[in-house]
Amino acid sequence: DITIGVLTSGGDAQGMNAAVRAVVRMGIHCGSDVYVIQEGYQGLIEGGDKIHRTKWFDVSGIIELGGTVIGSARCMGFKEREGRRTACLNLIKRSITHLCVIGGDGSLTGANKLREEWTSLVEELHSLNKITVEQKATYKKLHIVGIVGSIDNDFCGTDMTIGADSALHRIVDCVDSIATTAHSHQRTFVLEVMGRNCGYLALCAALSCCADWVLIPESPPEEGWENQMCERLNRAREYGSRLNIIIVAEGAIDRNGNAISADYVKKICTERLNQDTRVTVLGHIQRGGRPSAFDRILGTRMGCEAVLALLDSTDETEAAVIALKGNQMVRIPMMEAVAETQEVGKAIAAKNFARAIELRGRTFNR
Ligand code: ATP
Repeated sequence: DITIGVLTSGGDAQGMNAAVRAVVRMGIHCGSDVYVIQEGYQGLIEGGDKIHRTKWFDVSGIIELGGTVIGSARCMGFKEREGRRTACLNLIKRSITHLCVIGGDGSLTGANKLREEWTSLVEELHSLNKITVEQKATYKKLHIVGIVGSIDNDFCGTDMTIGADSALHRIVDCVDSIATTAHSHQRTFVLEVMGRNCGYLALCAALSCCADWVLIPESPPEEGWENQMCERLNRAREYGSRLNIIIVAEGAIDRNGNAISADYVKKICTERLNQDTRVTVLGHIQRGGRPSAFDRILGTRMGCEAVLALLDSTDETEAAVIALKGNQMVRIPMMEAVAETQEVGKAIAAKNFARAIELRGRTFNR
C-alpha cells in the first residue's frame, strides 16, 4: 500500500499516454493509490489540483492519443534547490513516497537529484515548520523509477525509447507522400529529420524508404563526400530513377565537426547536378499523430514494469530506469545510463565518433 506519483517531463512522445495509463492501472491493481502530476515538474512545484488522485477509468480512452494528456513542461524552477524543496513538500502533503518519471535524460537527472537531496529537504521543511515531526519521521526516502520517452531513440541501455517507432512511421509516411510529387516532377528532395546526437530516425527512415543518401551525427562522411553523393544520385538517374531522396539528421556534421545543413545539401544538388531540389524540414510533425501499436505496447509494458520496480524498491535500491533489451523488460541503473547517454553527445562534440558508435551500438549494432 504505497502511494505512487506519475509525471511526464521534457519533450512529448507518442506512447507516453500508454505508459501513464499502465502506471495508474498497475498501481491500482497492486493496491496502491496513484496520483497524476500534470505539467511535469512545473505541476509538482505548483501543487494544488495539478496533483490529483487518479482512478481506473480516469485513464480510459488515452492510449490512442499522441503527445501526453497529462501535459509536459520544461521547468527552470526544478533546477533550483528551492523548487525541489517545494516539490518535496507537495509530495509529502499527499503521502507520495514513490515517483515514476517519464521523460528524457534531463528529466531523469532531475528526479535523481530530488531523490538524493530528499533527506536534507525533509529536514529543511521541518526546521521551517512546514511539516510535523511525525511527517519528518515517516517520509525518510523517495523511491523513483524512470521510463524514457524520446522520439529520437537517443537513450543508452534500451533498444527502444517510447515514441521513436511512431516518429519513424510518421517520417516514412511523409517520404512516401513526397516521393509521388518528386517522381512526377523528377525532383530531388532533402528531408531534415529529428536527432541532434542520434541518427536512429534518419538511418531507419533511409533504410525504410530506399533513400539515396543519409547523413547522421555519429558517423560523419569522409572528406569529399559531396562528390560521392553526386555520383550516387547521378547513377540512380542513369538507371531510370525519376527522383532522389536524401535524409539529413538535424545534428548531421562533417568529420571536422561542422554542421551539414539540408540547405547545404540542396546547394550541392542544384549547383553540381542542376537538379530541381527542394528541402522539407519535418519538424514537430514527427511528434504528432497517433502512437503506433509498438509504442502503445512498449509504453504499457514499461509502465507495468515501473510499478513492479517501485514495489520492489527498498531504501538501499539504486534508482532504476526501465529498458527494453532483446524484447525483455529490464531494470538498469538510472544514472549510469544517463551518464552514457550524455557521453554520446560529448564524444560527438570531441569528434570521437568511434566512441559514440560504441555507445550507440548497444541499441543498433548491425
Ligand atoms: P528531451 O529528451 O525531450 O530533451 P529531457 O527530459 O532531457 O527530454 P530537459 O529539458 O533536459 O528534457 O529536462 C526536462 C526538465 O527536467 C527540465 O525542464 C527541468 O525541470 C528538469 N531537469 C533537467 N535537468 C535537470 C537537472 N540537472 N537538475 C534538476 N532538474 C533538471
